[in-house]
Amino acid sequence: MIFPTPKYIYYIIKKVSGVTTIQFLGGCREVGRSAVSIGSLMLDYGMKPSDPPEFPLNGISPSHVVISHGHLDHVGVAPNLMDYDPLIYMTSPTRELSGILLKDSMNLLETPPYSKKEFRQFESNTIEVNYGVPETLDGWEVTFYNAGHIPGSASVHMAKDINVLYTGDIKLEDTRLLKSADTDYPETDVLIIESTYYGVNHQPREKLEEAFVEAVADTVECGGHAIIPAFAVGRTQEVLMILDRYGISTYIDGMGKEVGKILEKYPEYINNSKRLKKALKRSIPVERGKRENILTEPAAIVTTAGMLNGGPALFYVSRLYNDEKSRILLTGYQVEGTNGDSALNRGVINLGMRTVNLKMGVEQYDFSAHADDRQLKELVKRVADSGAEIVFTVHGEESKSFSEWIRSEIGIESYSPRNGDIFVI
Ligand SMILES: [Zn+2]
Repeated sequence: MIFPTPKYIYYIIKKVSGVTTIQFLGGCREVGRSAVSIGSLMLDYGMKPSDPPEFPLNGISPSHVVISHGHLDHVGVAPNLMDYDPLIYMTSPTRELSGILLKDSMNLLETPPYSKKEFRQFESNTIEVNYGVPETLDGWEVTFYNAGHIPGSASVHMAKDINVLYTGDIKLEDTRLLKSADTDYPETDVLIIESTYYGVNHQPREKLEEAFVEAVADTVECGGHAIIPAFAVGRTQEVLMILDRYGISTYIDGMGKEVGKILEKYPEYINNSKRLKKALKRSIPVERGKRENILTEPAAIVTTAGMLNGGPALFYVSRLYNDEKSRILLTGYQVEGTNGDSALNRGVINLGMRTVNLKMGVEQYDFSAHADDRQLKELVKRVADSGAEIVFTVHGEESKSFSEWIRSEIGIESYSPRNGDIFVI
């Protein structure tokens, strides 16, 4: 086994027996390019969608790859590992969602990091797994648990000489689309937890929904267009369910249409599949050539891209930016440097050929798919109470503060690794 030069190698002596090597290859003290290798297993292998995109550091040659969920920052460059011909494990919805997002990113990137052949090999090496059913991977007993983040998302428990729990991205409360994460985990010695929202608490869901629905209804009643940018996977369907619940009819545009059709095939992964079906049926899909037509009357339009970096959302904004009656209602976190961030904080948007000042309103409603500060802390407490001795915090700008909090408030060992760090336990 050859390792690249690590930043540091730490040796941790614990009651746990055996020698297990954990290497963090990406997604440390940042959001994006998640990848952790444990023994010969790789957990996630994503890309950071920056410009240019960033990839995980080189690590082991994995015999098996486990994908927690179908977001590109977790699966985006998994096809790059095909030289090692590993078997790949994920849930059925993750397989389909990864498939369409990877194909889309291959088309968007000027130089795709992997070939079509590698993508096909990635697909044919994939084995579908169910929540709660253990699989044996190179001597590890690996079990997936619902993570409540997007449809098919999983936290992964691995048992061998030591027991490791990797939360992946996790949501610890019900939403209209998904059930809260299942946290009935077996014995855990080492916890690897995301920290996206450490230090930030979410507004109660009900209040957030009410404010959002009121803004949409007001905009349409006053004769404007409510442009609702939403991520294709999960957020689009969640927003449609909220608006449908309040009797607001909507148009739907972009990749979210295709994702909706996929999700209908997996009712067991949805909180209330009947309501989803109803909301999808009532929304009106917009065809590519018909976009201009729906701008003649006031309307609500749910559309990709969620951070306004392309997609039909930009078409609508290009027609409406001077219309004071219309509003952009962002439905998620906006990464710095994206159009969504620039629209929200500076009232300016880049339409490709030109940059314009927005006269239309811009508001943000953070329907987050991640646990907040309070929920993250509660989860660590619970896993520590049932015997965990070491916690690694990853996937977040505030990972370091989170691990300091764990050390001082819970009193167990905690680290916020840097990309490249190796821990031998
Ligand atoms: Zn995610």
